[in-house]
Order: sequence, then structure tokens, then C-alpha cells
Amino acid sequence: FAHAARGTASVPEFSMNGIYLDANENPLGPSDSARKAITDIIPNGGRYAPPLYFGLMKMFAEQMGVPVDHVMVYDGSSPPLHYSSLAFTSSTRSFVCGNPTYEAGQRAAEIAGAKIHAVPLAKDYSHDVAAMVKADPNAGLIYICNPNNPTGTTTTKEQIDYVIGNKAAGTVVLVDEAYIHLSDATSAIDHVKAGKDVIILRTFSKIYGMAGIRCGFAIARPDLLKKLGTYGQSPMPITGMIAAQASLMDPELVPTRKKLIADTRNNTFAWLKANNYSFIPSESNCFMIDVKRPGPQIRALMAKDGVHIGRSWAAWPTYVRVTVGLPSEMQAFQTSFKKAMDTPAA
Ligand code: PLP
Repeated sequence: FAHAARGTASVPEFSMNGIYLDANENPLGPSDSARKAITDIIPNGGRYAPPLYFGLMKMFAEQMGVPVDHVMVYDGSSPPLHYSSLAFTSSTRSFVCGNPTYEAGQRAAEIAGAKIHAVPLAKDYSHDVAAMVKADPNAGLIYICNPNNPTGTTTTKEQIDYVIGNKAAGTVVLVDEAYIHLSDATSAIDHVKAGKDVIILRTFSKIYGMAGIRCGFAIARPDLLKKLGTYGQSPMPITGMIAAQASLMDPELVPTRKKLIADTRNNTFAWLKANNYSFIPSESNCFMIDVKRPGPQIRALMAKDGVHIGRSWAAWPTYVRVTVGLPSEMQAFQTSFKKAMDTPAA
């Protein structure tokens, strides 16, 4: 996490020197209407503002087409991700996930004492759902990240239907849709509507550009949400709530940003292809490149140019994850990446 260097005791002020393509953030930040809403609400910062809290949950539930008792707001999707692992895994109920994938749920499951079944992705980089279901008939939680982080690849509706249709009774399926708006993947929301053992996670940290403002949701049957609630709740920042509400009311936000990020990503892919670099085609705001040497070597070389790319995963040590930045940032990426790749491997 190159950002760790941004704030230290000796440099307390926040500084964004350099280009950060390492944390799947959105360089566009909050939308114009969200910014205005944040500014306008600041004088009320001394309030917990329950009407805002309930109003936001109502608006989100309506947009998702579920009753309001099927949604719970959190300060991002990290809290419900952790609570899901704590609630549904244990020393006798395992955690099943893809590999590589986003590891936060796995880490919480380890704290719960759960056995981890990290199932390699399929050849097309979707989740290998048959192998995941087979991994443990007594799984507590099956985690599917769709689109997946770090690959940006999707798992189809049919594959998710398979997991829900074939999992053991009592196993909960956690579908992390942090990046869904960036792709054409189908949400698992119909399974929630049908009363299945499914929890969906959504966040405002990605397409909505609010990672530092904070808002996210868990969507599930009320009894599943109640179990998460026993592990903790999120007192919500009023800035996060009002910005989320403004974002949800803006019909242009998602399609405009989806197209902008896709265009930048596809231009980067065309350049990688033209230069014979090997990468995994992604539908999201991150993608992986096989640098054919230990990934940290390329990452360290590029950091010297002030271009901070993402890390490697243990399963694929020669791949690095790159977040799609602004078009100008991806130009800087190209220059620095080529220079690093032209440097003989250490
Ligand atoms: N889920 C996935 C797949 C992520 O990549 C991230 C953050 O990068 C999160 C959840 C947590 O994000 P947040 O807590 O900001 O919503």
C-alpha cells in the first residue's frame, strides 16, 4: 500500500505527490453533486442525523427493489465483509474463496479460526464454482468477488446460480459487488429477493469515488443482517450519507464514469498488446500484467518515477495489479512501465 508513505508523524499534512494506481481508487473523487451536498451539510456535523440514516437506507432499498429491512448501511463495505466472516465461519465452518481474490474476508475468517479453501480461478479467470462448492460440504461462507479483485474478471449469473443451487444447506454465499457498476456482470440481487442464503456487498468507494468519505451497504434477508449486526454497526459520517444520497440521485454518474474508465482501460490494453506485454483482460478498474519476473521488482522501479502500481498476489508472484487512473496518469504509467520492463531483471 504505497499510500502508507503519504501520512507520517513528520509529514502530517495530506499530500498526493506522485501517481497512485495501487489501491483501486477513483481519481475522479466524489461527483459534483456529492461535493456540494458534503459542503452544505458540514454545519450539521455535530449531529448523528438519524433521518438521514433512515432516508438513505430507504432510497437505496427502493433502487435495489428490496424492502428496507433487507439493507443495512455501513461506513464502506469492509465492515460487513468482516462481520460476515465472523458471523458465518468458525473452527467447524470453513471459508471458501477464489484465488487470487480480495483477502479481507479470508483474514477475518482466520481470526474466527476457520479453515480457508482458496480455490484457483478457472482458466477464463471466472470463479471455478464447481470446485468451490465441492471444496467443503460444511462451508460456512462462500465468498465470490464479482468482478473479482485483483483480476477485474467476472463470474456469470449461471455460475452464481450454480453455487446457490448446489451449496449445502446452511452455507451462506457472500457476493462482493464492490466493482459491479464498472462491468456488465449481473448482480446477485434476484437471489436476495428470492429469500436465498445470500449477502451482497456494495460500496461507494469505487465508481462513486468516495473511498475517503465512506459509505457502503449489505443487502440480505433480515435474519442474516441481524447476525452481522451482532458483530458491530457503523456510526455513519453525515458527509458520507449525504454524498451517497446525492450520488444515487444522479442518473448520469454511473454510465458516464463506467464509459470513461472503460475507454481508458481499453486504450491501455491496446498499448500493452501493441508492445507484446501479457495481461488479463478485465472489465473493471483494475487489471493484472504478467511482468515475467517477481512483481515487486517492477513495482519498485516504477515507484522511483513516482508511479505507484499495485502489488502481487502470492498465487501469481509475477503478476502486478494496476488500477485504471486518469488518461494522463495512464500515459505516465506507459512511460514508466516500459522503462521498468526494459531494465534487466535483478
Ligand atoms: N471489497 C473489495 C473487492 C475491495 O476491493 C475493497 C476495497 O478495495 C473492499 C471490499 C472494501 O472497500 P470499502 O471498505 O472502501 O468499501
